[in-house]
Amino acid sequence: MQVALSVLGDCSVCPRSCGVNRLAGDMGKCRTSRQAIVSSYGAHFGEETPLVGRYGSGTIFFANCDLECLFCQNYSTSQLGEGQKVSGDELADIMLTLQAQGCHNINLVSPTHVVPQILEAVEIATKSGLNLPLVYNSGGYDSIETLKILDGIVDIYMPDMKYDDEETARELSGIRNYPEVNKAAVKEMHRQTGDLEIDREGVAQRGLLVRHLILPHRLAGTKGIVRFLSEEISANTYVNIMAQYRPCYKALQIPRLGRRISSAEFHEALSFAREAGLNRLDRIQFVESLPVR
Ligand code: SF4
Repeated sequence: MQVALSVLGDCSVCPRSCGVNRLAGDMGKCRTSRQAIVSSYGAHFGEETPLVGRYGSGTIFFANCDLECLFCQNYSTSQLGEGQKVSGDELADIMLTLQAQGCHNINLVSPTHVVPQILEAVEIATKSGLNLPLVYNSGGYDSIETLKILDGIVDIYMPDMKYDDEETARELSGIRNYPEVNKAAVKEMHRQTGDLEIDREGVAQRGLLVRHLILPHRLAGTKGIVRFLSEEISANTYVNIMAQYRPCYKALQIPRLGRRISSAEFHEALSFAREAGLNRLDRIQFVESLPVR
């Protein structure tokens, strides 16, 4: 675990590779130094069905992020950094508390920039009996080197796939090579854990679950992403095509992001997924409430 923590001294935890010394208190793009910041935690019932089960997904929301999405739906946490610094012992206690509450998993939300701190806490918590599946719930901009450290530790990977186009990624999330890095990361995640495995109670135990948020005007590049998943990952990839986009944060200043998606855009995205051959789509949400045009 010391190896993972030492990466913070010349930080390349995520593909930004800022090279700052977080152990000395310096901060890079993610504005997080030695200690992780937790904005909230608890049993969550709004996640995908196989994560929620009967007793909820034990979510831990980390503040700050390695991405700068102009439309972030959690911007007060991801961009404004609201939360409390936690030590390894405190983070381990949170994990054990969620397990004691009966949660089906530990769902690490926005974990990319705090992987070493998470590993430190998992080691402590495991010694005290933590045995739930770990869910790595990231924006999908993850480095292969860091993912390899997680091989055998993370049970369920739940990355976003946000864009299929570099210019859109640069404009909306401040990172041009997102599509290339994201696809390589998803391949590595699938190599480690395979397709999503769900037990008899309907609860996920291991594997890959991909989230794809549809944006107005086809900005999310759905067609390319679902083709990639079907052709280069697996037609059995469990995918949540999400319709809940709402303009917030800086999206309100960008005309193309200034509205919800329409019902037609949502159905088009589902058609793209089915035509590509994907056969495990998460429950369909919010369709009735979408505007027709
Ligand atoms: S984790 Fe943070 S400091 Fe480290 S490379 Fe990524 S953005 Fe930079």
